[in-house]
Amino acid sequence: MKTALVCGAGGFIGGHLVKRLKREGFWVRGVDLKFHEYADTEADDFVVGDLRDQQFCRSVIDRRFDEVYQLAADMGGAGYIFTGENDADIMHNSATINLNVLDAVHKRNIQRVFYSSSACMYPAYNQEDPDNPNCAESSAYPAAPDSEYGWEKLFSERLYLTYGRNYGMQNRVARYHNIFGPEGTWTGGKEKAPAAVCRKIANAKDGDAIEIWGDGKQTRSFLYVDECVEGTLRLTRSDFTGPVNIGSEEMVTINQLVDIVADIAGKRIEKNHIPGPTGVRGRNSDNRLIEEKLGWSPSQPLVKGLEVTYGWIERQAMRNAA
Ligand code: NAD
Repeated sequence: MKTALVCGAGGFIGGHLVKRLKREGFWVRGVDLKFHEYADTEADDFVVGDLRDQQFCRSVIDRRFDEVYQLAADMGGAGYIFTGENDADIMHNSATINLNVLDAVHKRNIQRVFYSSSACMYPAYNQEDPDNPNCAESSAYPAAPDSEYGWEKLFSERLYLTYGRNYGMQNRVARYHNIFGPEGTWTGGKEKAPAAVCRKIANAKDGDAIEIWGDGKQTRSFLYVDECVEGTLRLTRSDFTGPVNIGSEEMVTINQLVDIVADIAGKRIEKNHIPGPTGVRGRNSDNRLIEEKLGWSPSQPLVKGLEVTYGWIERQAMRNAA
């Protein structure tokens, strides 16, 4: 039986990845600071602990797993990573996790680790025009991410690649672009735009206004979590190192995102634009490289994933209200 380790298994993408690996017949160990908030884990072994602790890292990486996925990070949506208040924690915590996990994996002679970087590492100067952002993998340098979260991702993706060059490891690096779906953070301050919009609309009555940070004309693309997991597995099992974008090319404004969710909810929703952290003006995945190297790229329309996600968040919101 094949074995896999998922670091960050108590989180959103890690939780979905565990389910997928179980469906494929893997024996899975999940590791996280906490149990999954929204679903019982399907991992065969789930260890709660802190990957900033080197000894703990060594204790959970106690065998040669066939596949290792490193998704643990101190992260959140714009309200967490763009305000500046959490910068020291974000950089220290995530960098320490990556240094520890990679060292422990290397000392166990595991040859390959998947690492989840982020589109937040792309330079801000290429993302000022909302209609024409440039997020081609080759546009990463000169580096100028607009957040410390992005700088840590850039440092860590380079870290994984150095272990490839110096120690012969075959690590794989993806740059995720705004992943969304059910069983992810939807309230509390760490949620991202699709979940926040779904929650606000689920809590709104027909004709109500919801608050939107900025003018809502900033553009993004959003990838449904199942396609993110599919891309992650394909990259990990391929001959291609990356870094490569795993994202959707269906770019929308935040105002359009609100309209799509309002349509799904069957509600008329007004927008009240207020000051708030918004990040870059435009961002979209560029999928030419993943198509070339893996012969695959995400294809599901945004609305399909939003229907499932809105339904899940609406049920959570109703349960909370009750
Ligand atoms: P998440 O916050 O739901 O999951 C991350 C998990 O890491 C959390 O469960 C958290 O408890 C765990 N963790 C944090 N510190 C830890 C520690 N010291 N020890 C053990 N576990 C710890 O986030 P997610 O959306 O599932 O993202 C997974 C990965 O993908 C992260 O590395 C994130 O930066 C990256 N990413 C996500 C997106 C996205 O849109 N969701 C976009 C780009 C990159």
